[in-house]
Amino acid sequence: MACMFCRSEADLTREHVFPAFMGGELTVPDGSCNRCNGEFGKWECTLRDSTKFLLNLLRIENRDGEVPTARVEVEIRGMDAKGLFGKREADGTVTLSDVVVSSVEADGKKHRQGFFVSQASAEKFIERASTRGEKTTELQVPNEVVLDASYTQTLPFAFSLEARKVVAKIALASIAHKYGVSFALSPQFDSLRQVRTATTAKEMPLRVFCNKNFIAVHTRNAHQHSVMCYLSAGKKKGWALVTLFGGLSYIVEVTDKFEERLSRLFSIFYDAALKKPFTPIVLADEMTVIGDVLSKNSIFEDRDALDEQWFPILAAYCADVGVELERISPADSTAGGAQPAQSS
Ligand SMILES: [Zn+2]
Repeated sequence: MACMFCRSEADLTREHVFPAFMGGELTVPDGSCNRCNGEFGKWECTLRDSTKFLLNLLRIENRDGEVPTARVEVEIRGMDAKGLFGKREADGTVTLSDVVVSSVEADGKKHRQGFFVSQASAEKFIERASTRGEKTTELQVPNEVVLDASYTQTLPFAFSLEARKVVAKIALASIAHKYGVSFALSPQFDSLRQVRTATTAKEMPLRVFCNKNFIAVHTRNAHQHSVMCYLSAGKKKGWALVTLFGGLSYIVEVTDKFEERLSRLFSIFYDAALKKPFTPIVLADEMTVIGDVLSKNSIFEDRDALDEQWFPILAAYCADVGVELERISPADSTAGGAQPAQSS
């Protein structure tokens, strides 16, 4: 067998359908070579880093069974301390780390303010300051503090080149998973294979889309990744709808020269929390759904529309786990997205 991307027959390894960092455990054995696997791995890393808070919030485990921690901005209620950061753990608790902030006063004097989690680290700071001949003032901190931790998850990552490459890979890998690597290797999917070397979004046969009928066709949650694929014998074309985290959706033109006599249809629904496929009730078949997505009912490449489509799905999850979610209108911030705030 050969690599589904470059046809190399050496150093074959398993290829994930949905990336491992998104909770994906569905694989294609000997699906790709080490080099291609590593290349997609790099793009996945970029994507992972820009979704760390989301993965933390959704408690999605990586391949080592760990939920990533996320860096959050922290405010202490009733105290004027700025620039504090903490770590949000997998269980939602926020741990503060020591912080020293430097500022220059109106009179030109340099001023440093420290916030220390332990008495020992505070004493060390004072000791070092006094050896430098600096004056220190200790402020009373209340024994009980209320932390307001906030983090903003924005949407630009969904439109990035890296996300598009990973989405195209998911489409090809899902075809290989369903029908075997040799079917995915047939020349009719060659244009999809070229995403590996694409340097702009325009070169890639895929678009971000939003469509109300598509969203309503089955129940959704933020833990859900899916692929709905239709290879049309009549139109001699094929498409895959790839959806991440319940509502970030892409239409991929997987082939523009489908050469078989019979159409093929399949779907993969995957639960990233349970790490296994599941079968929801879907109210229309792949051909109907994809037909609607290709119609004027869809909005393509629109950040506001994607925000509107995805936010309710994320909000429903947050309501379930008791995390406060605040929506930042994309008009207010150039980035758009959601800002979960949490107290501990
Ligand atoms: Zn390869």
